[in-house]
Amino acid sequence: MTMPRIWKTNSETGKTTITVQCAMHLGDPVSVTVDTQDYVDWTKGVGEKRLAQVAFPYICDDERELLISGICGKCYDAFLGEEE
Ligand SMILES: [Zn+2]
Repeated sequence: MTMPRIWKTNSETGKTTITVQCAMHLGDPVSVTVDTQDYVDWTKGVGEKRLAQVAFPYICDDERELLISGICGKCYDAFLGEEE
């Protein structure tokens, strides 16, 4: 599965913005901004930071889900709703 995922690093602010197109619906891509160091640690799987909730405690659950699975919070909730 190819997932369009673009990330832009701003060396002045030390932040990285990751733009993800939800894999479940066609819509506008969603951008999530995190600290560049956290993103690097997470992608490399450094220690506990391999867990998105440890690497990015400051973003919301929906944004984390998008980074992990490439599925937006709305679609993820709908998916879980069907499971129950
Ligand atoms: Zn979606």
